[in-house]
Amino acid sequence: MNKPEKTKYIFVTGGVVSSLGKGLTAASIGALLERRGLKVALQKFDPYLNVDPGTMSPFQHGEVYVLDDGAETDLDLGHYERFTHCKLTRLNNLTSGRVYLTVIENERAGKYLGKTVQVIPHVTEEIQKRIRDVAAETRADVVITEIGGTTGDIEGLPFLEAIREFALEVGASNALFVHVTYVPYIRAAGELKTKPTQQSVAKLREIGITPQVLVCRCDRPLEKDLRQKISLFCNVPVEAVIEEKDVDHSIYEVPLMLQRERVDELICHYLGLATPPADMSVWQEIIRKLIAPQHRTRIGVVGKYIDLQDAYKSVYEAIIHGGIANDCGVEIVKVDAEQIEKEGPAGSLQGLGGILVPGGFGERGIEGKILAAQYARENKLPYLGLCLGLQIAVIEFARHALNLEGAHSQEFDPATPHPVVDLQEEQKKITQMGGTMRLGLQPTQLKPGSQAAWLYGAFLIQERHRHRYEVNVAYKRQFEEAGLVFSGTTPDDRFMEILELPGHPFYLACQFHPEFLSKPHQPHPLFSGFIAAAHARLYKKSK
Ligand code: GLN
Repeated sequence: MNKPEKTKYIFVTGGVVSSLGKGLTAASIGALLERRGLKVALQKFDPYLNVDPGTMSPFQHGEVYVLDDGAETDLDLGHYERFTHCKLTRLNNLTSGRVYLTVIENERAGKYLGKTVQVIPHVTEEIQKRIRDVAAETRADVVITEIGGTTGDIEGLPFLEAIREFALEVGASNALFVHVTYVPYIRAAGELKTKPTQQSVAKLREIGITPQVLVCRCDRPLEKDLRQKISLFCNVPVEAVIEEKDVDHSIYEVPLMLQRERVDELICHYLGLATPPADMSVWQEIIRKLIAPQHRTRIGVVGKYIDLQDAYKSVYEAIIHGGIANDCGVEIVKVDAEQIEKEGPAGSLQGLGGILVPGGFGERGIEGKILAAQYARENKLPYLGLCLGLQIAVIEFARHALNLEGAHSQEFDPATPHPVVDLQEEQKKITQMGGTMRLGLQPTQLKPGSQAAWLYGAFLIQERHRHRYEVNVAYKRQFEEAGLVFSGTTPDDRFMEILELPGHPFYLACQFHPEFLSKPHQPHPLFSGFIAAAHARLYKKSK
């Protein structure tokens, strides 16, 4: 006899088209279940063959989200961490590439004892092991597993087969399939159409998965007759046809929207989970501040991927959180670094309360970012630099305050006469890509009396890193003599982690990525401080 299953499993699949917001739906379900007092764990399976998204360009895949343990993961894990309290590790993101790598390594190590190694059962077992590992590691009441891609994709099949078998094994009362689908509005017909949903559900049933909850993405209300039609054709009760309309203001409305549709109640009913209703007052307060904030400001994000929605996902979210902390609505203005190169900074940066230079790799747009940093420093415009944004501030200061002509980072100019940002010794030996940067949570000690220490309210902090280059300590004295303060360093003083400029209302940059630790209900102190300064600047100007 198998031992009775304590953990419940929810599988979230997606149909019809990609970019439906499956990750947000999974995260929102997680948020609702958490508010019902359950411990949740969230996990993402990605069907592509990269071993992890770390080597993928933001053009391909949006931002790479970094976890405490240094895992470079899919950006949906960012939603999971922002919406819930679950702690994620490299166990929580699995790609086909990783699965095959493990299976092939096992085969080479002779672990299959001469058997023919096949997708079923060897690949599927490896996938199932990951679900079990997360359950065991987190001891969660509910493990929510999101399957990336769209039903019908060839690459996704082993994952679907794996979860089908898994559900069978744990029993119907312990596993639930939630399918996120699209109900498009066809203008010529003047109505919402259910056929794509019917077909994607049929596709799932063909491979033996019967979704019990259908979350229907749509741009207008899903009326009763349509719900009934979907219910009939897709074989789910009408109350399990859930409307998930495009949000009006913010993605943080999704949990509240799903609660109105009673999705959490339904899930708990199916899985036999007896819990009190979810108290969502914290979320309601967040939405209130987003819809009707007391104050307003405008923040320019100076980048090179400004046309891409997802490239700076966590940065945009953290800015919004900084707004929530100050009851301040933030308009995010995407500023093209290359345009600044062509036209100078004044035009693009006009009317902003502050600018943020996010992380990045590669030379394109660098000079524009340096001009933006110079403008911010000289015009007392609040500046927050993240990772590359710190290196930019250092280069700018070296060139214009220290008069070190041609100062640069070795990443962009290996022959620079003043390598104020250079490669760390341990990085020089590395030739392989993927997981080889300085990654994950690292300690930083803060200087007493500094703005950073004041904002954090602490002297020792931990933040997530993802970079290869560092401030060159050979120039440290020169920088300090000219007034720049390195207010955060590694405890051994080897690496500069935060810089700030006394006398400036807010000129602060960090070598790490604070955006990965910000949540709507726990805004990150650096973002809160930055938005407060940006608001103060525009407020003063309007007086
Ligand atoms: N390209 C820089 C480095 O490798 C900055 C990286 C980043 O911004 N994440 O150090």
